[in-house]
Amino acid sequence: MKSYLAPLALTPSGWQKDFSFSIDGSGDLIEVGKRTEECEVIDGVVLPGMPNLHSHAFQRAMAGLTERRTAKQDSFWTWRSTMYQFLSRFTPESMRAVASQLYIEMLKQGFTSVGEFHYVHHQADGTPYDNRAELSHSIFDAAGQTGIALTHLPVLYQTGGFGDQAPNEGQRPFLNDLDRYLAIVEASSARAQGDQNKSVGVAPHSLRAVTLDNLEALHNQIPRDFPIHIHIAEQTKEVNDCLAWCGQTPVELLLRRFPVNNRWCAIHATHMTATETRGLAKSGAVAGLCPITEANLGDGVFKLRTYLKSKGAFGIGSDSNVLISMPEELRTLEYSLRLKHRKRAIATSTQDMSPGSLLYNKAVSGGAQALGRKTGSLADGFRADLIVLQPENPGLLHHGPQSLLDAMVFGCNTNPVKDVMVGGDWKIKDGRHTAEEIVLGNYREALSQLIN
Ligand SMILES: [Zn+2]
Repeated sequence: MKSYLAPLALTPSGWQKDFSFSIDGSGDLIEVGKRTEECEVIDGVVLPGMPNLHSHAFQRAMAGLTERRTAKQDSFWTWRSTMYQFLSRFTPESMRAVASQLYIEMLKQGFTSVGEFHYVHHQADGTPYDNRAELSHSIFDAAGQTGIALTHLPVLYQTGGFGDQAPNEGQRPFLNDLDRYLAIVEASSARAQGDQNKSVGVAPHSLRAVTLDNLEALHNQIPRDFPIHIHIAEQTKEVNDCLAWCGQTPVELLLRRFPVNNRWCAIHATHMTATETRGLAKSGAVAGLCPITEANLGDGVFKLRTYLKSKGAFGIGSDSNVLISMPEELRTLEYSLRLKHRKRAIATSTQDMSPGSLLYNKAVSGGAQALGRKTGSLADGFRADLIVLQPENPGLLHHGPQSLLDAMVFGCNTNPVKDVMVGGDWKIKDGRHTAEEIVLGNYREALSQLIN
C-alpha cells in the first residue's frame, strides 16, 4: 500500500484541502481522506484523470496532411477519401508505433484512459492477416508500452451505406462478417483478461455501415457488461440518407429499434432535433463529443444546452487525433457554442458552477461510464487514475477552487499537466514518460514509410 497527500484535490464532494489517499496492490484507491503517517507529498493540485472516449489511433499520423482543399467543396467526405488512401500504407508495426506515440501524447495531456474505436482489421486489399486480430494486438501492445488504460472497441463494418449498400474499395480493410468479427472481439477479450487497465467493448461502426439485423444479432450475443459505441448523426448527409432510406433519422431509428441505455455511447450525435436530443439524454447513454475533430471536419455543433437540461451524460474524445489537448477539447466545445449563440458561459445554466468546472466534471464522469471503467472519481474503490497540475504554470497562478478549472480550460498557454497516474503507477512525471525517446524514434521511422 502506498499513501499520498495533496494540497488540494477535486473529490466527489467538491474541493478538499490536504487530501490524503492510499492505493492498494491492484491500483484502486483506498482509505481516501484518512491521513497516514508515512505518505508521499504531491506537489500540485490533484484532479481525477480524464477519459478519452473516442480515438482512431492511426489517424494521428495524418495530422497536417488533409487541410488543403482537394475538391471544389471540401468536406468530411473528401477528407474520408484521403484517409482511406493513407491507411492503406499501414502495417502492424507502424500501427503500433503511431498508437504508442499518440498514447504518450494523450497521457501527457491528462488523458488516463482511451476508448480505441478500431476499424482497420485487414491489409489494404482486404486480405486478412494470418492472425485476424493482428492490428488489435498492435493497439494492445501500444497501450502496454505506454501504460494508458485501454478500452478496446473492435469495429463491425459491413456496408457502404444505408440499406445494405455494397462497400467501396477503400473500405476493404474494415470488413468482417459477424462470426469473424466476434472472433476478433474474443481474441481482444483474451488479451485483456486479468489486466485491470485493459477491457473490451464493441463498436458497430454506424447505422450506415451495419445492417439493423446484424446490429440486433451483435447486441444479443455480447456480454451484458460490454460498452457499445456507435458513430451517429455526424453529418447532415448521413441524416438525409437515412431519412430517404427509412423515413427516420439515425438517432430516431436507434432509439426506437434498440434498448439504448447507459452501456451505449453515441459518438458525435451532432445533428439531432430537440426531441432526439432529449430522447438520447433520457436513454442514459453517453454522447461522445469530439469538439476539435468536429471543428476540423466541419461537422457542426452539438446541442449541449438542450441536452444538459435533460440531464444528458457526455464525455470527450480526440477522434481523428489531429491535435491532442484535453483543455482544448473542453474549450472548443464551449467556444463553438458561444460563437453559435453569441452568448457566454453556455455550458452552465446556473451561476453556481463555472463552465470549466461543469465541463470537466461532466466529461470525467461521462467518459468513465462510456469506457466501462471504474475511474473518474477520487473515492474508495475507484481506479487510482489521476493527474497533478503544474503549480508554477503562469496560467494557474493564484487560482483557487473558485476559478482553477476555468483557468485550466480557458487560460493556459502551455500544457498544465505535470504528473499522471494510471492504476496507481506514475506514467508521466514532470511532463516526461520513461519510454518517450524509444517511442518517438519508432514513430519517426514509421512516418518515413507512411509519408513520402
Ligand atoms: Zn470516429
